[in-house]
Amino acid sequence: ATRLRLVLGDQLNASHSWFREKHDDTLYVIAELHQEAQYTQHHAQKISAFFAAMSQFADALVQAGHRVLHLTLDDTAQYQDLPDLLTALLQRYNVNHFEYQLADEYRLRNQLDNFAQGLTISATAYETEHFYLTDTELSDYFQQGKRHRLEHFYRKMRLRFNVMMEGEEPLGGQWNFDQQNRQKMKPKDFVSVPDPLLFSHDVTAIWERIQRHNISTIGEMNMALLWPVSRKQSLILLEYFCRFCLVRFGQFQDAMTAKLDTLGESKQWTLYHSRLSFALNTKMISPQCVVDTAIKYYASSQGQISLPQIEGFVRQIIGWREFVRGVYWANMPDYAQLNALNADNSLPDWFWNAKTKMNCLHYAIKQSLEYAYAHHIQRLMVTGNFCLITGIDPEQVDEWYLGIYIDAIEWVEMPNTRGMSQFADGGIVGSKAYAASGNYINKMSDYCSDCAYNVSKTIGDNACPLNALYWRFMVKHQPLFSNNPRNKMVFANWQKKPIDDQQAILKRAEYLLKHLNNI
Ligand code: FAD
Ligand code: SF4
Repeated sequence: ATRLRLVLGDQLNASHSWFREKHDDTLYVIAELHQEAQYTQHHAQKISAFFAAMSQFADALVQAGHRVLHLTLDDTAQYQDLPDLLTALLQRYNVNHFEYQLADEYRLRNQLDNFAQGLTISATAYETEHFYLTDTELSDYFQQGKRHRLEHFYRKMRLRFNVMMEGEEPLGGQWNFDQQNRQKMKPKDFVSVPDPLLFSHDVTAIWERIQRHNISTIGEMNMALLWPVSRKQSLILLEYFCRFCLVRFGQFQDAMTAKLDTLGESKQWTLYHSRLSFALNTKMISPQCVVDTAIKYYASSQGQISLPQIEGFVRQIIGWREFVRGVYWANMPDYAQLNALNADNSLPDWFWNAKTKMNCLHYAIKQSLEYAYAHHIQRLMVTGNFCLITGIDPEQVDEWYLGIYIDAIEWVEMPNTRGMSQFADGGIVGSKAYAASGNYINKMSDYCSDCAYNVSKTIGDNACPLNALYWRFMVKHQPLFSNNPRNKMVFANWQKKPIDDQQAILKRAEYLLKHLNNI
């Protein structure tokens, strides 16, 4: 008799209670699946990184004395999908009990739950034991359709898990230090930006396999994969972040630059960001481990790391990451259909080759194609904002984000994309649409000074396209947005413009919308 335990590609959690004991009758299955490589068009480095991390995890389990079946695309090609493969394995290994961990994606969870329910042998589903909140607890915090707010949730989480608290009060007497953070990066700041810690994991064999099976991908491949693919590498990256990046994490969290690399170094894409999202989302490290380690560094830094830096970082993990997961599960599957602004335009072709004259978009997309990575503000305020104010169909926006980023898994990608950045959920995730003109980009980056367009102009051929597009977007959705007090000034400013100017702006916006492929 055999017990079969399935480990999915984003369930590489070595601390899971499954692995505490060794059982000769337990067979762990880790499988490269065609369905997972193809449910969307992934970045070449993303599939390679997942397969490499799965392979490392399988090796680690074998070394720890577990029985493991690691299947490659070659081994699984003949099976139509995951249930089909599992059915064959249950038979081949004479399995009498099937166990799996709850999948974090709705699509997969449904598939596995249905499969388990249809079995004649017994089956058990386990928690992944990764997040702060267990699966069953999510409904205590999140309800379908309700407009949830991060700040409220974040405070509850800090209190509940006693993270940086002094009794009932937040450390330093303040929950939020955003005012002090989020600065623009100036040339004088360039010298202290740390070089990114990059790994170099040979994925030639994996990449050949991906090509042999005709899996279509986007982005540039790099045979020396620079992402962490084991728990050990994930911990090294975490230590590196704490030692060299945490000190200015909050300060330059929103900064963007194209000029830093003129110094001959390649670090403008990473700045002070942790790049831990892949390690976290594959569960090679846990959010608790990341938060505890960062706080330990903060506490022993003798004041070098300031409170706003650590608070800004902890908020992302204990706050945002857990928050979007809660929103996802409370609202799926309906969430995937939401389109509150009825956006229906198509993504311009240059989202796949970065060939646009708009410098900000050129850099954000070029970097995404090269590294399968962009930091939060590039995703939200550059590519995301562009799609928002040009009314791109959220279906297409979701698909692009789900494919291109190394860390993109639907539970975290979708609420960020469809919700936070596209406002397609009508305000479940965020209280307002993150729409911006060129002014915001100019404030947070040095992109504009080298751009073909002029950020201070709204009309005319060389005017920054984002300016007219922003106004058109706000005016179009005025009935929906004008109730929000945060938009009062915006509409007052619009009203102040002479009618002729208003018309010229809207005309320019319409022209741009018709020529999105050529701007
Ligand atoms: P850091 O800036 O170093 O932040 C530390 C960690 O905080 C991250 O690793 C991540 O785990 C967490 N975090 C920060 N912001 C968020 C957030 N808004 N939601 C959830 N976790 C957060 N993140 C993903 O992991 N997968 C995605 O597919 C994804 N898609 C996104 C799409 C859009 C449109 C936007 C605006 C954001 C998206 N994010 C996504 C959130 C965020 O941009 C990335 O987590 C972050 O850029 C990853 O880089 P990092 O590890 O260097 O993050
Ligand atoms: Fe982007 Fe406009 Fe600035 Fe060009 S001028 S970089 S398009 S914000």
